Amino acid sequence: MDIITKDAESTQRLGQKIGSTLKGGEIIALTGNLGAGKTTFVQGLAQGLGIMDRLTSPTFILMREYYGELNLYHLDMYRLENNFWEEIRNLGLTDLWGKAGNVVVIEWAEKIKEFLPESTIWIDFIQKEDERIITTDSFEL
Ligand code: ADP
Ligand code: MG
Repeated sequence: MDIITKDAESTQRLGQKIGSTLKGGEIIALTGNLGAGKTTFVQGLAQGLGIMDRLTSPTFILMREYYGELNLYHLDMYRLENNFWEEIRNLGLTDLWGKAGNVVVIEWAEKIKEFLPESTIWIDFIQKEDERIITTDSFEL
């Protein structure tokens, strides 16, 4: 299934819609180039979870945490280099995911694909000028 959004607000609204359906325990893996709209989507997703904090990109620190009825762990693997398995362990990531009260969203998740569980929800973002083609097998978009 895929959807085309024509502006950032629409991508955010899509994130919000999906965020509001989450039950906790989900791992959502986002793929797509720089500027494809992943962080924009997660901003909406956080709103959909009822998180009021302003969400900023975790590119330079790998992970940001937001606490709410469900906790959101927002990761960005862009900068992750070769020793990444150690970094992932240092983040305590594997203790966070799959926990009932947590939602884990990972940008550039393809970099750690082999470590992600089978149940991971994959969403791909393709940029075409102002349009974004957003594709997933896991949701009705
Ligand atoms: P990423 O996290 O994938 O690198 P960002 O969400 O940080 O991407 O950035 C996307 C940029 O593209 C933002 O500046 C946003 O305003 C712009 N943009 C333009 N059209 C769209 C769209 N349809 N969906 C999402 N972002 C869009
Ligand atoms: Mg981003």
